[in-house]
Amino acid sequence: MDNRHILISGASIAGPALAYWLRRYGFHPTVVERAAAPRDGGQAVDLRGAARDAAERMGILDDIRRAHVGTHGMTYVDSANKPLASTSAELLGDSGGAIAEVEIMRGDLVRILYEATKRDVEYIFDDSIAGVSQHDDGVTVTFERGAQRSFDLVVGADGVHSNVRALQFGAESAFVRHLGYYVSSFSTDNHLDLHGWELMYSEPGKTAGMYPARQNTGTRAVFFFASPPLHYGRHDIAAQKDILAKEFSSAGWEVPRLLDSMWRAPDFYFDTVSQVHMPRWSKGRAVLVGDAAYCPSPMAGVGTSLALVGAYVLAGELAGAGGDHNVAFNRYQDEMRSYVAQGQRLAKGNAIGLVPRSRTRIWFRNQTIRALPYLPWKGLIAGGVQKAANAITLKDYPVHVSAA
Ligand SMILES: Cc1cc2nc3c(=O)[nH]c(=O)nc-3n(C[C@H](O)[C@H](O)[C@H](O)COP(=O)(O)OP(=O)(O)OC[C@H]3O[C@@H](n4cnc5c(N)ncnc54)[C@H](O)[C@@H]3O)c2cc1C
Repeated sequence: MDNRHILISGASIAGPALAYWLRRYGFHPTVVERAAAPRDGGQAVDLRGAARDAAERMGILDDIRRAHVGTHGMTYVDSANKPLASTSAELLGDSGGAIAEVEIMRGDLVRILYEATKRDVEYIFDDSIAGVSQHDDGVTVTFERGAQRSFDLVVGADGVHSNVRALQFGAESAFVRHLGYYVSSFSTDNHLDLHGWELMYSEPGKTAGMYPARQNTGTRAVFFFASPPLHYGRHDIAAQKDILAKEFSSAGWEVPRLLDSMWRAPDFYFDTVSQVHMPRWSKGRAVLVGDAAYCPSPMAGVGTSLALVGAYVLAGELAGAGGDHNVAFNRYQDEMRSYVAQGQRLAKGNAIGLVPRSRTRIWFRNQTIRALPYLPWKGLIAGGVQKAANAITLKDYPVHVSAA
């Protein structure tokens, strides 16, 4: 097997999942993560179709099920918390309804993936790649903190603002498309007793919500707002909190209380709602996986699925090609292209429903949800999500299980 020593940037979903499969195929992955430990936080994520299959093949599906969020559905409420429209998990779930769906807090999935790999994979926390120089038989990598090292390949699994992409492919502006919204989420108190229901409140161009986490033992606040691109420091949490507080300063419902808890939240997350579109996900000995290569945006609801499946396919194609990266990277792209395109297409429609830009559109959204059980085309909505989730069938790659 060629190219055994592989450096992966990013220890969230795509990075550890890729490291897991690479180890099973006999490669030696090293994961470098900028944060000091695996990062908690984020919303609940759904695993459907091929992504659930990938998790099952990794042997982590039982762990994921144990950490199941346990949401019954979502209710849109008015400023007095009066229900306006509800949609249950069964209604929009797949053919098996809520039971067949796997929904887990992003942070729990990161922890499960880290636990599944930490004994066999070298993790370097609190560091970042500073430079990558490719040559015929490998890459020389410099780090912000650690000493220079050599690897055979380098993988960017470092998210929508990928460092490897910037170093090897070019500026973010060439690949990242802002969809016109921002997203934020953080832990808060369950002061409304959600009983398994997600609550959402919309004003024109703004939606705030609360949903139960970890079998109703925790609660997360979530915010979406429409906005042109904003300028702020990506690591400047205080500035991001200020932006959110200003955007929602006059909003009703539970928003003042949620914003009050925001200042104390240990796991505040804020980012642009953007997609990544690239003509190619690899360049020589560098390749991208997950959000770094094809972020579908939080509106699509399939970012984690694309990351898990992308990791499975990339590692499998490398193993299948005996480590030949030129062959493997081409096959990875061919195999994933249509699945990625279908996932990315989900974002626009979801955004219109989640963050309507006028009172009329909010009313129309609520009426549509109320009528949903009676609409003949209700199956089309669930069907669209299911079609995207199953737009790829996982191949069986040869497992070498080599320790060499
Ligand atoms: C803390 C956090 C909270 C999130 N919350 C949400 C949410 O609420 N809703 C939503 O839709 N999506 C959220 N996401 C994004 C979501 O996890 C991804 O869309 C999806 O799961 C794909 O995962 P990924 O592994 O490709 O990328 P990400 O999950 O974005 O992971 C990228 C990883 O790379 C690390 N990294 C970044 N730069 C460097 C660097 N220079 N060197 C080393 N490591 C680096 C990051 O710290 C992170 O661990 C969140 C991501 C993070 C990191």
